Amino acid sequence: MRLFFISIAALKKLCCRLLLLAAIIAAAILLIPKGIRYIEVISHRYHPIYAVETDEKAVALTFDISWGSAMAPKVLKILKDHQVPATFFLSGPWVETHADLAGQILADGHEIASHGHKHVNFSPLSKDQIIDNVMSAHNSIKKTLNVEPSLIRTPNGDFDDEAILTIKELGYLAIDWMIDSLDWKNPGVDAIISRVLKRLQPGAIILMHASDSCKMTDAALPVIIKETRSAGYRFVKVSELLTLGPNNTRIR
Ligand SMILES: [Zn+2]
Repeated sequence: MRLFFISIAALKKLCCRLLLLAAIIAAAILLIPKGIRYIEVISHRYHPIYAVETDEKAVALTFDISWGSAMAPKVLKILKDHQVPATFFLSGPWVETHADLAGQILADGHEIASHGHKHVNFSPLSKDQIIDNVMSAHNSIKKTLNVEPSLIRTPNGDFDDEAILTIKELGYLAIDWMIDSLDWKNPGVDAIISRVLKRLQPGAIILMHASDSCKMTDAALPVIIKETRSAGYRFVKVSELLTLGPNNTRIR
């Protein structure tokens, strides 16, 4: 009887240990990657702007373009049909090789911003390489469109403190996003739409793409526009969004 009692206790102890081990493994799987991301995030002192603190129901639609000429005209037509102003972050080489399309974006009244020159992450680059990347794109845009942009979205949204500070020294503001539509992953039209609509909030910057690698942007965009307006929001360019809110408060 005693032996039996001890063996039950031992069994319970073993179960407890196994449960504890399972909990530790689960916690490691679930929490450690988040912990690493968290550490990465707080290790940066400087950040791009991803939204504006405001109670006004205004959001900014933004489109990055680096490749192709098929998606951009479709996006432009939809924006024109719905009279939506947007901000376009254009890669320098794309502007030079698609001068007509870039010119149409400008003529349609949209905001021209930079998406850098080579589409590479900025954080591994030296300060001089960052300057070269930003200014090469700046010069391409200026030469082609006679516009000098002051907003930049770094390729892949990648940054570190040096990148943000260098961008600032060059007279630019780095702009990220609060809502990633994930259109670049081609996840399905409904997935793109619901991803944006579920995350709407005043002052948000919405990331979309008008590069040809994104196949579903034009199908999702009209619904996003209609539903966002139905929810009481208006669309503004990023530079206008930055002026909203108390004392122009910006979320870094
Ligand atoms: Zn990009």
